[in-house]
Amino acid sequence: MKHSDIYFTRTELDRCANMRDQKQRLKQLKKFKPCHYVPVYLGNHLYLAGEEQFYSTDQPVGSSKAETFLGILHEELWFSCSLTEQQARDLEEATGGSFQSLRQYALALDDDQGHVALYSRGMDLWHRRRVYCSICGTKNKAASSGHKMVCENGHEQFPHIEPAVIVLISKGSKCLLGRKHSWPPNVYSTLAGFVEAGESIEDAVHREVYEESNIRIKNLSYFGSQPWPFPSSLMIAFKAEARSDDIRLDDEMEDVRWFERDDLIKWVNQGTIILSPRFSVANSLITDFIGDLG
Ligand SMILES: [Zn+2]
Repeated sequence: MKHSDIYFTRTELDRCANMRDQKQRLKQLKKFKPCHYVPVYLGNHLYLAGEEQFYSTDQPVGSSKAETFLGILHEELWFSCSLTEQQARDLEEATGGSFQSLRQYALALDDDQGHVALYSRGMDLWHRRRVYCSICGTKNKAASSGHKMVCENGHEQFPHIEPAVIVLISKGSKCLLGRKHSWPPNVYSTLAGFVEAGESIEDAVHREVYEESNIRIKNLSYFGSQPWPFPSSLMIAFKAEARSDDIRLDDEMEDVRWFERDDLIKWVNQGTIILSPRFSVANSLITDFIGDLG
């Protein structure tokens, strides 16, 4: 498996970061190029009945202050528009659609649409969580076409990303998967956890695996990364080999165990073991180990 096989990472979208502060240029471009405005409410997109593409329109939606320039895709400009609850309800009523989670539609979207949905979701959630300055508590205003927040005292804030590590650990023909108490029945996935302050991502992998399973690892190799705005993570994926196989659980995990490759394939096909959704990098890691289930 290649990094480019990870969902949400394949796109032709050019973010055009240098244009975010060029207000006049963007204004001009809006006149000459087709524009797409994507309404987003609480990170969710609008879907019309029977349609599997999220709704977008060629006219701005909601307040222009809540508009974020996403970039240019195939010569067309894309914007996300954060809606208030009232604006979202009004739009649902006007279109007959409803705001739904990306989780539900991820597999139906093509590469570019999936990326735009993920990107606009991340920006929308960040805007909602940064209404006030985290330093002085005064009200923030969006700047740089939605990519920066600035408060009354001039403190600048940029989209908040939380790095997390996720790792497929193998030992010969078996791999290590676990489940948390809160997960739906029979769901198993790769071990994962957040990188802590002052910690390298490699150290985070070693620590998380040891905490959750008591396993020490070797031959850590980078697999790829996946933006994961649920609400603001960046998943950094690795593969590693186990140096031991004696599992001991911590309180966070309900179960961690070794799965023989052939057993895992059989149980997944039978539905007795359920993996994380196909669009997750956890699924990419497991698929890479067991081969495509078809
Ligand atoms: Zn401030």
